[in-house]
Amino acid sequence: MNRAPILRFRCRCCERLLQVPEELAGRAVRCPACLLVLHAPPPGLVEVTPVDEIPELEPLPEGNL
Ligand SMILES: [Zn+2]
Repeated sequence: MNRAPILRFRCRCCERLLQVPEELAGRAVRCPACLLVLHAPPPGLVEVTPVDEIPELEPLPEGNL
């Protein structure tokens, strides 16, 4: 069974490498390190190789920014 595609990107505040499931592309997520709210990049612009040591982020509720 294949894993879901993963989007990887860096927090623009603390530059920590983050990853989210591709289904969260464009959604708001919170950096676990500095708590900055970021938007996950759209698919195709970032690497998709899963890396186990990077925590996956949880999506934030819409309209709660
Ligand atoms: Zn950060």
